[in-house]
Amino acid sequence: MIIVVLVRSFAVAESMPHGEFDGYGEVPGITEGATFDKLEHAKAAGVHNENQRGIAGRAQGVAAQSIVISGGYKDDEDFGDFIIYTGEGGRLKDSRRHIKDQEMTGGNATLVRSQALGTPVRVLRGANAGTEFSPTKGYRYDGLYCVESHWSDTEEDGFLIWRYALRKLSDVAVPRRPEKTPSPAARSRPGGQEAPKRRPTSTNQIVRDPEVIAWVKKEYNDECQVCCTPLELPDGTRYSETAHIRGLGYPHSGPDKVDNALCLCPNHHKLFDLGAITISEDLKVVSMNTAAVVGRLHVTEDHQINPDHLSYHRKHHRQRSPREQH
Ligand SMILES: [Zn+2]
Repeated sequence: MIIVVLVRSFAVAESMPHGEFDGYGEVPGITEGATFDKLEHAKAAGVHNENQRGIAGRAQGVAAQSIVISGGYKDDEDFGDFIIYTGEGGRLKDSRRHIKDQEMTGGNATLVRSQALGTPVRVLRGANAGTEFSPTKGYRYDGLYCVESHWSDTEEDGFLIWRYALRKLSDVAVPRRPEKTPSPAARSRPGGQEAPKRRPTSTNQIVRDPEVIAWVKKEYNDECQVCCTPLELPDGTRYSETAHIRGLGYPHSGPDKVDNALCLCPNHHKLFDLGAITISEDLKVVSMNTAAVVGRLHVTEDHQINPDHLSYHRKHHRQRSPREQH
């Protein structure tokens, strides 16, 4: 019996040796919290199939498999179960200084596909990031996250960066660095309480005003403002979706009001959220890929859309910083 077990485990090991895992989600045999002295060890274990790059995925056109928060990008924000991750590229080699715009190619494009497809992304944290959630040494695998949204932004020197909001899929808390033991004198001193760090709320967790949703849907009789298509359900009622132009969650903090909402079909809702289409000042629907006008936004007289929100959406889905355009 023992021999059979040995042979079977050998067979499993042979069919999938460490380092050859090339899939999405959990790596068999690796549990959340697993640590690695070096990134190459995480690669050997199949957790992050890259030596240097922070974003690992297969060829372009497929979703990202894993990311590393290593402190290489100064715009990363780590809240444990919620991360704002900076895309790759644009930096001077071996430096945190940006010298050009980041592009929507390579790893940056794979993370957008993770958002579009809903594919989970493995997250590793490196000690060098130095946040309260970084391990004290080496690298730690912190479980699976989903990409909730992405947008472009301008970093402090004026170059374009891509940013991604990732939320943890499991309830397992990310370990915090142990606080340094206070000296006996400090222990006897009343310290009071520092303001607790606020955890950003995602659009998924925000309770959207049902009256705003109902008003927008009724105003357009559940027809998409881009393609005017009515989707009829089996009982004859219609289906539409309400999209917020400026996202409600951190860091966009758009208002939950009708002047920030659109009535869209699922296709155009997805394309708008992914930044694949934007709305111009004069309400033309523009394809981000080709810059061609692909339609016109239908707006009723009673629906006053705030142009600032449309401008915010355009600004956060552009491909070039103003300094690179001039
Ligand atoms: Zn539509």
